Amino acid sequence: MQPWLVQHQLLLSQQLEQGRLAHAILLAGVAGAGKLSLANWLVQVILCRQAQKNDQGVLVPCNSCKSCRLYHQGSYPDFLTLASDSKHIGVDDIRRISAFVEKTAHLGKNKIVLLPMAEKMTTAAANALLKTLEEPGLSCVLILVSDDLDMLLPTITSRCRLYDIRPLSGQALLESLHREQTQENVFANVSQLPELTDEQVQKQFRQFTACLLDFLIKRQNRAALLALLNENTYAFRWLEYMLVTMVRSQYNWLCWSALSGKLVDAAGQGGASGDVQGDDIGQLPDTESIWQIYQLVVGCIKQLKSMVQVNAAYLSEKLLVDIEARLDK
Ligand SMILES: [Zn+2]
Repeated sequence: MQPWLVQHQLLLSQQLEQGRLAHAILLAGVAGAGKLSLANWLVQVILCRQAQKNDQGVLVPCNSCKSCRLYHQGSYPDFLTLASDSKHIGVDDIRRISAFVEKTAHLGKNKIVLLPMAEKMTTAAANALLKTLEEPGLSCVLILVSDDLDMLLPTITSRCRLYDIRPLSGQALLESLHREQTQENVFANVSQLPELTDEQVQKQFRQFTACLLDFLIKRQNRAALLALLNENTYAFRWLEYMLVTMVRSQYNWLCWSALSGKLVDAAGQGGASGDVQGDDIGQLPDTESIWQIYQLVVGCIKQLKSMVQVNAAYLSEKLLVDIEARLDK
């Protein structure tokens, strides 16, 4: 289980033990945040008859009682989940859920419904689900999972208890890296850049990363990088994202060279031709320098945000000068 899920496990364990677990639960967060593994854990501790708390206070299924055995065989009768490979979740799917909910539980415990990719529900399906959610005396726990909260009807979200699952990012990620000194669990999809769904923005991102790599490795393209920092709304966020990726790469060099290879390749039309090999990328600054550059960037972003009247162009120029000074040390 990813480290950032433990706090949610702890909360859900307490709520389950105290009989305060909501009947409609919504696990929301970016792709890669581990929502489904959290959901599967929750299903199992709800149905297990002998779940015990571990040292951290998190309930752990026994894996040997009748319920656990049936669950592992995929034949626990009071659990229903929808396969999420279809394009959308329609009214018929929700009718299956309603019929399941209305039946008496075979094993006398709660019935559990897991609905991954809940945002795929059509409006009609969501309205049908609302009726089920409003059914009085429901002896059923309904777990919705979604990458995209905005796609869900507000009438659905307002009836669910929301658990906002956020992987570590930025400062918290770096701190955890320094603390743990291990590559375990940190390669989740930590920094989603949702703006990259726009093709135009994606092109700018590639341009930006190519410039940044040139600047950090070969001390070239400074003017172009400065222009991007001044003109592109996302540039500072991308800068922060790239530096975090680089620090992560300390723990997995292959991961970094694969990523940078891809980026250089993608941006390569104007630059090097042909296949870009890992060796052509050159040496990145060492981790300590990257870490310090990251601190410079974070400081600069803070200044940009906190000052009412600020000469942004001056600050970005100063940032690049500071970074160069750092690289020359
Ligand atoms: Zn069990």
